[in-house]
Amino acid sequence: MAIDGPAGSGKSTVAKTLATVLGWSFLDTGAMYRAVTVEALRRDLDVEDYDAVGRMAGSLAIETLPRVSVNGRDVEDDLRGERVNEAVSAVAANPQVRRHMVERQRRFASVQPLGTVVEGRDIATVVFPDATLKVYLTASLAERARRRGDEGESSIARRDVADTTRAVSPLRQAAEAIVIDTTGRDVANVVEEIVECLNTKISS
Ligand code: C5P
Repeated sequence: MAIDGPAGSGKSTVAKTLATVLGWSFLDTGAMYRAVTVEALRRDLDVEDYDAVGRMAGSLAIETLPRVSVNGRDVEDDLRGERVNEAVSAVAANPQVRRHMVERQRRFASVQPLGTVVEGRDIATVVFPDATLKVYLTASLAERARRRGDEGESSIARRDVADTTRAVSPLRQAAEAIVIDTTGRDVANVVEEIVECLNTKISS
């Protein structure tokens, strides 16, 4: 199942809950781009240097479960800092980085015993165009900023622009995606709606 949408739309919470309810695996692809960013900053690389960051990304061992790590070093607590929020869109716009991450995302899903709930920006459009169900989550900017706590509306709005206007795999609603506005809705209610859609899809 592919779940896409902008920052703070509820993807992670909804996707994690769905995976638990369905007994499926879960993959947070944003955490992978954040992990690459943490490592690039740790190495003092210029995040606009696509060759250097791309080469580095290809050499990293990234795990997302149970906690996010890079080459065995736990980076979970570093993923959502201000510097990473500022730099991650540039890292995610790097075609070489995307090629390496997409390859890993496909490999991850291919070895899971049951299904996988994958969340990100390009999951339904690029990574898994044949996903059984494609979901696009949205919410108002004010609500998304409230959910993200420290990040603030201006940083989220800046990432929205960067993620929707970049040349490679921009955030887009897939044609067949069901669109759910999560503003003011609780997680259980959104999850229920998606499970119903999945059941309808599977039985049709
Ligand atoms: O979802 P999250 O806010 O953690 O994602 C961080 C950043 O990673 C996004 O702003 C976006 O630039 C990038 N990203 C992406 N493609 C994905 C997932 C995340 O470009 N599939």
